[in-house]
Amino acid sequence: MTVSQLAKSIAESPTLKLNEEARVLREKGEAVVHLGAGEPKNKAPISAILSSAAKLSAGDIKYTPTDGIPSLKKAIIKYTEENYDKVVAPENVIVSAGAKQSVYNVLFSILNPQDEVIILAPYWVSYPEMVRMVYGVPVIVTPEDGGFYPRMEDIMKAVSSYTKAIIVNSPNNPSGVMYPEEFIAQIIEFCEKKGIYIIMDDIYHKLVFDGKKWPQCYKFTKKDIESTHIIVVNGVSKLYGMTGFRIGWAVANKELVAIMANVQGQITSCTSVVLQAAAEGALTGLQSHIESLRMTLENNRNVMIQELQSFSGIKVTKPDGTYYCLPDFRAYSNDSVKLSQLLLKKALVVTVPGKEFGMEGHLRLSYAGSIKDATEGVARIKWALDPNSPNEIYIGDRKLVRDWL
Ligand code: PMP
Repeated sequence: MTVSQLAKSIAESPTLKLNEEARVLREKGEAVVHLGAGEPKNKAPISAILSSAAKLSAGDIKYTPTDGIPSLKKAIIKYTEENYDKVVAPENVIVSAGAKQSVYNVLFSILNPQDEVIILAPYWVSYPEMVRMVYGVPVIVTPEDGGFYPRMEDIMKAVSSYTKAIIVNSPNNPSGVMYPEEFIAQIIEFCEKKGIYIIMDDIYHKLVFDGKKWPQCYKFTKKDIESTHIIVVNGVSKLYGMTGFRIGWAVANKELVAIMANVQGQITSCTSVVLQAAAEGALTGLQSHIESLRMTLENNRNVMIQELQSFSGIKVTKPDGTYYCLPDFRAYSNDSVKLSQLLLKKALVVTVPGKEFGMEGHLRLSYAGSIKDATEGVARIKWALDPNSPNEIYIGDRKLVRDWL
């Protein structure tokens, strides 16, 4: 049987794979601590549930316009005005099946084969694969100092005549850092001058800690929405804990949105009207859910960082936002895939190897679960790796003895 070489070369999403492994282990009754999760525990906002339930009970579930139902687009326009201080038209907005599909549609719609897209390491796992899926070339820019903040000089060196776009994700998955305002200003000025698209993946933009302010991108361009190269991607997954509803969107110039709508129309027609209604409910309902999620995450982050700081040899950069941190485990192993497997097998803790994010020697740990997950997860990692930690640990009512150090 022959299949496409390209399709065959696309890697399985490591985060989805780990979710599945954790689910199977839990089903078998294993006391797994899931520090790999990219979703919070909270229930969807009641306004989202009621809005989608009303749609469902009316029973009139049909196709919607490809780019989204007008009332959801209206809510997105209001969201853009409130959060980005930018007034956009319905023709500047397209709703997709999650921010994931939004990013893919953008890439499909702007790239010719062999065009290059600059991706800043550490990066979200799907970016390089998505670029390759549309016959583009991912160009990874890694900070020279091994840190998590990209430098303009490195980006400028990576730009070629084939560079079509750069993807900026801040606050960042997996590191949790938020890029400085000056960097966002510089990158936008540079890309606008060069005619390079700036894809702002802002999916975590309200989950920022320590009273810090997230810099919205449009304030750094003088161009209007039709001439700017900025494309903003957003969604309800992360802010409202609505990952299963699969609604995201992109805001861009009308010409690009029309092309994206044609592409999407040939692939999915539209996203489900029930789920669009839920997203509209979330955007137009009480917004206090986001603040309470943000506060929970900040608290969880504090606990996890405190636990990690008492772990000899681990270097950790305090995240400014998101659900994640990306500690450096090179004191214990340079092979993050092997390390993650060892932790899952021996200590029943799910972590995501840094290699998947372009940061070998690190592990992404999520604090989107409970405080207990954070403390117990780090305690188990410590037990598995640190010879100074006690030799025995209880996992549930099972006593485990470390015999590999
Ligand atoms: N961008 C980033 C940086 C993400 O972390 C994720 C989800 N893990 C997405 C996009 C996709 O989000 P959605 O659920 O809206 O597809």
